[in-house]
Amino acid sequence: MNINLAKLSGNTMVIPGERLDALRARSRDGSDQTRRGLRRRTQCLERNDRPAARLHRAVRRCSRRERAAVDFAREAGALLSVRGGGHNIAGSAVCDGAVMIDLSPMKSVRIDPFARTARVEPGVTLGEFDREAQAFGLVTPTGINSTTGIAGLTLGGGFGWTSRKFGLTADNLIGADVVTADGRLVHASDAENPDLFWAIRGGGGNFGIITSFEFRLHALGPDVMSGLIVYPLSQAADLLTRYREVIGGGA
Ligand SMILES: Cc1cc2nc3c(=O)[nH]c(=O)nc-3n(C[C@H](O)[C@H](O)[C@H](O)COP(=O)(O)OP(=O)(O)OC[C@H]3O[C@@H](n4cnc5c(N)ncnc54)[C@H](O)[C@@H]3O)c2cc1C
Repeated sequence: MNINLAKLSGNTMVIPGERLDALRARSRDGSDQTRRGLRRRTQCLERNDRPAARLHRAVRRCSRRERAAVDFAREAGALLSVRGGGHNIAGSAVCDGAVMIDLSPMKSVRIDPFARTARVEPGVTLGEFDREAQAFGLVTPTGINSTTGIAGLTLGGGFGWTSRKFGLTADNLIGADVVTADGRLVHASDAENPDLFWAIRGGGGNFGIITSFEFRLHALGPDVMSGLIVYPLSQAADLLTRYREVIGGGA
């Protein structure tokens, strides 16, 4: 079946059914079943401390589907959007008539309690991430709403309940696997592609498709106490003067 797609130029074009079949065939190795198999293999390689190169090969095969979609959109000149948790209120994950790379089914969270790191896929929500990390009494600072996606939040910076103590979400990003606009899978960290790593920590989703995030974790909870401290308005002048002293601004 032919479909109409929006082009970057604003016009539309017809994509013949055979071209979609070719895309499906190219993506087939990235099917959920294969992905699950590769994930098991990756975990096994990690557990056995096997060479990083083999691990990287497994991850690269996992990202085949995203790379095929990026290549397809680029070669066709089609408008492309990316969906992580789908929580952006402006609806930036959706463009009319365009190709959408929907990463919301990618839900894996793996916590390493000894290294205090987490590997998180882009369809994970903040609540899902917290649930896994809190099983070990650990946390990465994220946002205030459990249903927000970790992907869009991290790429925009990310500020929430524990940010005053542990910083922005993006401050706690150690590395990411990124499919670039030319269809390559690269790793971004302080050591590899540092410019890209700088850009994705607050620059939004415009620098590539993130297929995996690696975060630093901190000890917190699982029991925490929080709340508001409320004073009567009549004490406001005295309170604000003291507050200024406490935060170091002088009287
Ligand atoms: C009710 C509500 C509460 C919020 N609270 C907070 C808060 O406390 N703190 C805070 O910092 N923010 C907060 N936000 C803002 C939120 O972080 C952003 O809307 C964020 O974009 C949501 O991410 P998502 O993955 O769910 O969104 P999506 O709609 O899926 O994606 C938004 C955009 O992010 C990019 N993107 C998503 N995934 C990827 C990916 N894997 N690779 C490349 N680009 C990608 C795309 O450009 C996409 O258009 C809140 C939003 C709402 C609606």
